[in-house]
Amino acid sequence: MTLTKISDSGKDAADILARFRTVREDIDRAARHVPRDPAGVTLLCASKTQGVERIEPLLAAGHRLFGENRVQEAKTKWPELRARYPDVDLHLIGPLQTNKVRDALKLFDVIETLDREHLAEAIATESAKLGKRPKLFVEVNTGAEPQKAGLLPAEADAFIARCRQVHGLDVVGLMCIPPADDQASPHFALLSEIAKRNGLSQLSMGMSADFGQAVQLGSTEVRVGTAIFGARQA
Ligand SMILES: *Cc1c(COP(=O)(O)O)cnc(C)c1O
Repeated sequence: MTLTKISDSGKDAADILARFRTVREDIDRAARHVPRDPAGVTLLCASKTQGVERIEPLLAAGHRLFGENRVQEAKTKWPELRARYPDVDLHLIGPLQTNKVRDALKLFDVIETLDREHLAEAIATESAKLGKRPKLFVEVNTGAEPQKAGLLPAEADAFIARCRQVHGLDVVGLMCIPPADDQASPHFALLSEIAKRNGLSQLSMGMSADFGQAVQLGSTEVRVGTAIFGARQA
């Protein structure tokens, strides 16, 4: 590696850390504005498509909460990182196929995309085999978009009840991804309402473009990618 390369990657790491700190400050400011305690909002770094060399600076600086979209990609990156940072908290934030549940349970601490009966069954079966009881978020398709994953808002209460009572799953919260060209706030408010009436305390909502609004509407975890890493690495 040439000297130029080393200083380039050093600058890239410094930029990532600087943007991370800016995002954290923006979250804190949004929380104080409500007002609510900024400590009640965690920042998940959405590290899909980012290589380990761009994730590592955040780990080295003490950050532990990350999210990946694909089981296969996580498998190539995280076992190595977890060996060095055992207390990492890795969440699956992308769709999960039932045939990948076992791998997902081995790799991830939390699955945020529980969205159908078949998946609930598979998670229950594999969790029992592995002797694990992962924390889960139910994903709600707040915009009822046909192409998008997640329960319809009207189906959420019954599904959450079945996950708990029939499958014995540890559902801790709700997650949503509002439609790209809608105003996000009504979707965040709806998710918050569904969580409240189901006794769920955690809300995974808010991304680079709208995490401030999400914090104002009760988010307990914002998932931020581009505002920290810059444009995604194809
Ligand atoms: C990529 C991703 C994010 C982060 O999105 P940005 O707009 O890059 O902040 C959040 N949530 C999910 C589910 C994602 O796939």
